[in-house]
Amino acid sequence: MSITIKNSEQIEKMRKSGKILKQTLDLLEKSIYPGQTTQRLNDLAYDYIISQGATPSFLNYERFPYTICASLNAQVVHGFCSNVPLKEGDIISIDCGVIYEGYHSDAARTFPVGNISIKNSNLIEATKQSFFEGIKDIKAGSRLGHISHKIQVYLESRGYGVVRELCGHGVGTHLHEDPLVPNYGKYNSGIVLQEGMTLAIEPMATLGRRDVYLEDNDWTVTTQDGLPSAHYENTILITKDGVEILTL
Ligand code: MG
Ligand code: MG
Repeated sequence: MSITIKNSEQIEKMRKSGKILKQTLDLLEKSIYPGQTTQRLNDLAYDYIISQGATPSFLNYERFPYTICASLNAQVVHGFCSNVPLKEGDIISIDCGVIYEGYHSDAARTFPVGNISIKNSNLIEATKQSFFEGIKDIKAGSRLGHISHKIQVYLESRGYGVVRELCGHGVGTHLHEDPLVPNYGKYNSGIVLQEGMTLAIEPMATLGRRDVYLEDNDWTVTTQDGLPSAHYENTILITKDGVEILTL
């Protein structure tokens, strides 16, 4: 599918969608503690999204069975929810999407469960920071490769692995639209960004090697070396002068 440019009416719906998603993630953040289960977090997210007159993007998307992806420790993305209690020291990546009046938003955060190691804390912070590095100085007329390259350099220069099997993407009436937004690449490459494009930018970083495998459930992507991974994602709007973050 081709890249879509959103008009002001569509952007307003994307803003509302993003706001509901941000509020959902805020609610989940407050609900994460040792002993909590990801199934319970999933149910909280579902109920909140429905209460806002929206629907979850992920539930039943290509038969994905949950409202949230809950990826624990070495799991990078697309983790399944369960009734196994979270433990002190775990890190949990929550990815969620919302559809409001036909428009999707998509965002992810990695949260600590109780007290976590300095290494894991630094991994979470660097992954988040790489997103902000990626979008810094971006505006209509910039090239997509600027984002990819800056995310890669920020993470790799600090010794983290950058997962290459999954990418950011356009987002709008479909959860996944063109263009793909890799978290690695050449600075002066890729399409020229235009005002009204909406993109999900989502760095995924690992504490060890960047290699991943697909678990037996055919969804969950996990590091091969078993070391932790973090994820940070927002839906953004490209504007004339910069970027508006719709899920923050
Ligand atoms: Mg996502
Ligand atoms: Mg996404």
